[in-house]
Amino acid sequence: MSDQIERDCMEYDVVIVGGGPSGLSTAIRIKQLAAENNEEVSVCLIEKGSEIGAHILSGNVFEPTALNELIPDWKDKGAPLNSPATKDVVKFIISENLSFNIPFPSFLIPTFNNHGNYVMSLANFCRWLASQAENLGVEIFPGFTASEIIYDGNVVKGILTGEMGISKDGEKKPSYQPSMELRGKYTIFAEGCRGHLGKQLIKNYNLDNDKDPQHYGIGFKEIWDIAPEDHKEGTVMHTMGWPSNGTISGSYFYHGENNQVYLGYVVPLDYENPHLSPFDEFQQWKQQKDIKKVLEKGKRVAYGARALIKRLSIKA
Ligand SMILES: Cc1cc2nc3c(=O)[nH]c(=O)nc-3n(C[C@H](O)[C@H](O)[C@H](O)COP(=O)(O)OP(=O)(O)OC[C@H]3O[C@@H](n4cnc5c(N)ncnc54)[C@H](O)[C@@H]3O)c2cc1C
Repeated sequence: MSDQIERDCMEYDVVIVGGGPSGLSTAIRIKQLAAENNEEVSVCLIEKGSEIGAHILSGNVFEPTALNELIPDWKDKGAPLNSPATKDVVKFIISENLSFNIPFPSFLIPTFNNHGNYVMSLANFCRWLASQAENLGVEIFPGFTASEIIYDGNVVKGILTGEMGISKDGEKKPSYQPSMELRGKYTIFAEGCRGHLGKQLIKNYNLDNDKDPQHYGIGFKEIWDIAPEDHKEGTVMHTMGWPSNGTISGSYFYHGENNQVYLGYVVPLDYENPHLSPFDEFQQWKQQKDIKKVLEKGKRVAYGARALIKRLSIKA
């Protein structure tokens, strides 16, 4: 049936699916290499969010080695890395009212040693990367989802975008637009963790044969505007302990620029208690007195949740 629909088809040398940091960096690097070799390479990137960054809700501690290699003059080009990490705090929470800071030799645990890193908004960073990619000639199409893979035999030839303008009942609305073929000599999938096309590719090409299974966690994240007197730009805090309820869950709490904090809670998805609610764990964690005191005069401005890949938990 869908084969009878007439579709537009666009051809590129490279089609990239996903406008997160990996898709955008890939697009930039391909264009840089093409320029170094005096070659014309057409690159398009599609992103299902309404704009680049729309699906990237992340306050982030960012380690800049890869950026230094990709765009060495990122400071001159206005990369939004304005808050160097100035202080690491690691807290063990015993209960809603009791916690203590863990003095630790930070060189032993790199996650807790953020000297030289930056607290930033990953969404703003992606917007900036997109502007760098467009300056190099990458065509970026936000608002389009790659919904199917185009194969020729067993070779990937591109993707089909999703149809748009279908009502809840499956009827075509006046705004209906059929899917579009984006064909590429190379198609690069940068959908992030557990992308639906990625899962099909893993299955189709048996990419997980004889491999350890991937482990996942769920990460809740929120962005808050807080009172200036509670804001300590550059402070990077991680907590462990309460209310973990038998899981190796942990939290992060980063003070970025503009009186904002980025906070979140990660629960590994191999928990054994079927009654555990990761979302409620996160809400409970925010009631801890040290966390609550920073948030209570503030306002939540954005929130979301996302799967993330993780290493195997060490069982308690
Ligand atoms: C709670 C949490 C906290 C984190 N904290 C940190 C941190 O402090 N520091 C750090 O370095 N990393 C952190 N990470 C990890 C970091 O966010 C990821 O490593 C990074 O975002 C991966 O980049 P990516 O480009 O591969 O995928 P993503 O960032 O997931 O981007 C994928 C993009 O592809 C789009 N997309 C997906 N499927 C399709 C499709 N079919 N068609 C079109 N578009 C599609 C999505 O909308 C998205 O924009 C954190 C992650 C989470 C969940």
